Amino acid sequence: MKAVVKQSLGEGHIALCDVPEPAPARGEVKIRVEAAGICGSDLHILHGDIRIPMRPPFVIGHEFSGVVAEVGESVEHWRNGDRVTAENSRYVCGHCRYCRTGSYNLCSERLATGYAFDGAFAGYCVVPQERVHRLPDNVDFLTGALSDPSACAFHAVQELTGIDAADNVLITGPGPMGLFCLQYAKANGAQVIVSGTARDARRLELARKLGADLTVDVDAEELEQRIGDYLNGGEVSVLLECSGKAPALQAGLRLLRRQGKYTQVGIFGAPVPFDVDQLVYKEIRVTGSFSQKYTAWAEAIRLASLGKVMARPLITHTLPLDRWREGFEAFESGEAIKVVFEP
Ligand SMILES: [Zn+2]
Ligand SMILES: [Zn+2]
Repeated sequence: MKAVVKQSLGEGHIALCDVPEPAPARGEVKIRVEAAGICGSDLHILHGDIRIPMRPPFVIGHEFSGVVAEVGESVEHWRNGDRVTAENSRYVCGHCRYCRTGSYNLCSERLATGYAFDGAFAGYCVVPQERVHRLPDNVDFLTGALSDPSACAFHAVQELTGIDAADNVLITGPGPMGLFCLQYAKANGAQVIVSGTARDARRLELARKLGADLTVDVDAEELEQRIGDYLNGGEVSVLLECSGKAPALQAGLRLLRRQGKYTQVGIFGAPVPFDVDQLVYKEIRVTGSFSQKYTAWAEAIRLASLGKVMARPLITHTLPLDRWREGFEAFESGEAIKVVFEP
């Protein structure tokens, strides 16, 4: 089968290759991939600047949906033809503190699909049965493929940050993560401001359609002034930093009020300078949010089914696998919001 493969570490080294079709081992499920999205972290795989364990050569892709095509020995709850999506935690140790308390996304031995095991930019993908989730009948494959970023946003907003109707939320970075975080924050009744740069024009427009109360292009407008005017002297109580860009983090922290909450969602790819003293003087509560786990998946899929959080508006490009390069370029340039391959 054709697959998009990261052949070795470092910048680039990606190609469309012929690889053997995978077979499910004991406890594993083989899924025929119907839709597979490019994640921001896939760009970091392209550039070789992510600190998630990789074992090249491997098939990229961890946000996907499809149909069960074959099940391994001892798989009891899945049958051929089931419409499903799957979490990307492929191997976890099962006995550390984090695994035993359900936070296996933090297991130090965690190895992920699309990084250390073959992923979903291919015709078929194999995953452990306990990571598979059923798609409700009204959740299509494109929406199902974005369960991963939606669950990441649920984990960040609902499980780690905690937002309510009294909050003024600033989301820096209107990429897919920012746009999912926006929808969860709005579902909680908060007032939400989304900031981006000139290249994010299309994304900021979508943010407004998805309910953002204010969007700011920081290249055209002065962020602090604009937010100050908008909130009438009120302050930002929550910062969700989704861009992984130092200027956004620095500006966001300046705007965050005392006792505010700051959650880092984006990945910078390298250490960045910021004024740590602000955390002290303002007693800011800091959280990082990494990946997701079962609880977030179950809720993200349920909320997609209820129509409370929408994935389809984010998808600007659907492409066959052999146009993978075009997909990566469109995503990286900001022309695309979300690119999904249909292998
Ligand atoms: Zn992802
Ligand atoms: Zn573990």
